[in-house]
Amino acid sequence: MMRHLFGCAALCLLLAAGSSARTLDLDVHLDVEARRLAASGRFDPPLREFLLDARLTPQPPSAWQRIGEEAGAVRWRAIDGKPKERIDWQGELATLPAARDARQVLGRLPPMADRAGSWLPAASLWHPWAGDEPFSYRVSLDLPATQRALVPGRLLSETLTRRGWHAEFASEQPAIGLDLLAGPWRVGLDDLVLARDRRVSVRSWFTPAVEALAADYRASAARYIAGYSDLIGPYPYAGFNIVAGPLPTGIALPGLTYLGEEVLRLPFIRTISLRHEVLHAWWGNGVEPDWAHGNWSEGLVTLLADHATREEESADAARQLRKDWLRDLAALEPGEDRPLREFRARHDGASQIVGYQKSAFVFLMLRDMLGTQSFNTALRTLWQERQGQRAGWDDLQRVFEQACGCALGPWFTQWLDRPGLPAPRITSARSLIRQHGYRLELDLAQDEPPWLLELPLAIDTPAGVIERRVRFDNAQATVSLELPAQPLTVRLDPQARSARRLSPEETPPALRQVQVAAGVALLLPVRDGDWPGAAREISERWLDTQAHADGSTRLVIGPPAAVDSWLATAGLERPAEVRGGTAQAWAMRGRDGRTLAVITAATPAEAAALGAKLVHYGRFGWVVASDGRVSDRGIWAAPTPAISVLPAP
Ligand SMILES: [Zn+2]
Repeated sequence: MMRHLFGCAALCLLLAAGSSARTLDLDVHLDVEARRLAASGRFDPPLREFLLDARLTPQPPSAWQRIGEEAGAVRWRAIDGKPKERIDWQGELATLPAARDARQVLGRLPPMADRAGSWLPAASLWHPWAGDEPFSYRVSLDLPATQRALVPGRLLSETLTRRGWHAEFASEQPAIGLDLLAGPWRVGLDDLVLARDRRVSVRSWFTPAVEALAADYRASAARYIAGYSDLIGPYPYAGFNIVAGPLPTGIALPGLTYLGEEVLRLPFIRTISLRHEVLHAWWGNGVEPDWAHGNWSEGLVTLLADHATREEESADAARQLRKDWLRDLAALEPGEDRPLREFRARHDGASQIVGYQKSAFVFLMLRDMLGTQSFNTALRTLWQERQGQRAGWDDLQRVFEQACGCALGPWFTQWLDRPGLPAPRITSARSLIRQHGYRLELDLAQDEPPWLLELPLAIDTPAGVIERRVRFDNAQATVSLELPAQPLTVRLDPQARSARRLSPEETPPALRQVQVAAGVALLLPVRDGDWPGAAREISERWLDTQAHADGSTRLVIGPPAAVDSWLATAGLERPAEVRGGTAQAWAMRGRDGRTLAVITAATPAEAAALGAKLVHYGRFGWVVASDGRVSDRGIWAAPTPAISVLPAP
């Protein structure tokens, strides 16, 4: 799945809600060829001391003294000790990272310039930064004529002359840092008119190489903006900007989303990823999570964007996605399965599984419990009351309680503060003939202390499937259901609408289980040539934690014949489905019952090339690549077990 490349990195922490008395007026000149930034700013109130990225120096240097260094930034103080209203600074920016690896992009990045694309992240402190008090801003940008640039906010004016390109932006909401993006873009514009004549300018900032896709991206964004405006409340910004650049990452800023140009061609980027980023205009940027007390926004956006796209495709596609989430959750090691309330931002596979997928499940169960109408009413209330402000999990609980007229305290506490998942089971099922139909008696069990559950059941009868929901909040209980037809078998939540720990038979081996495993041991049937190097590269790029010799989860890497003989020694066989192509990877269950992964190819280079892609195929059981492209993949079957209903004695 590509999803993990997108969404809020830690940079989102630099966005701030609320109004501000501070203002910042910037003039920025960016020469991308020389990677040279020259800027001047007017600060109100004036600054006597500030932090600035170490590549940049305030001007003239004789007026400022270095008084310290903090994580790649220098703290400067005016030599005369007087606050300065105007500050000039300049310097040479960093180059783009050579290895454009998604995992590196998630760390702290310096301000970077390149003719292919420049990014001056807010967190890099490319402009004097005096603390996290929000400021309003106006930014004027000057670049060479072939370049365009933007910051979040309203585009006030734009001119192109022989001397270069000039534009002015103004804030729509206060910020505590500014991201500046630039590139050799062609800008496309569609004006979207919403209810009550509200206008939204949808702009694409795409390079010539991907410009052919721009109109479709703008049309999709406009459709999502209109849809969510109807569902939640009017889109909060004057514009929405879709920006394509060379970094393989996603950045969500107010009214702006940045997508790596290499992934733009993948169809799900325009549907699922773009939709996800658009919805962050409401949940994440418009109403910001109260970061210190947890981030609810990724789960809500995952349900209402990613999952909604699948629901519109088909009920089966949505069920498949939820099954994938449950399998990912089942793959977490106990120590990685942190309480949802602790989630702030995705930093690895495990935090994503909890912060996005488990969180989406919590909102899904809430919607099933309250009904879609009450659920949507609560979200509209949250938007009306909290737009432009922060909201915590407690605020969400309150609006949902208002909408349903019910108390949800214990329910929220259980899902937010308790790690892990419930594992309810049907231990036996009996049927009795009644005067008008049948009675089904089910014995249910779960571990102590019990969870408060509402379990969906599917009961197979000669007249078709009957669906029911039962409350279950003890360690053991017997429930009775009156049915119009004879129950033959019963299945626990085959539609996967309830967050629970899947039984081993419902959890087919999947590549993600090895990716997130806490201890992975690399096994190399062939140790000569480039195989050890390729194996190390695969383990560094794919696994969440470094492989080590004592790991209990095995990852076998080697040429086909050597791998096949290793499998034979381990009492295993290559699955029949995994064939063809020039490289194959699959997950399978070992004789010890644990999932292991195998990567095999004729050459170490082909194995490493497939290994680099596996992070996008975590939910699959097997992947086949031909000459560097994935040509086939699949998920091992694992139907929900059907419990036979016996006649009551
Ligand atoms: Zn997100």
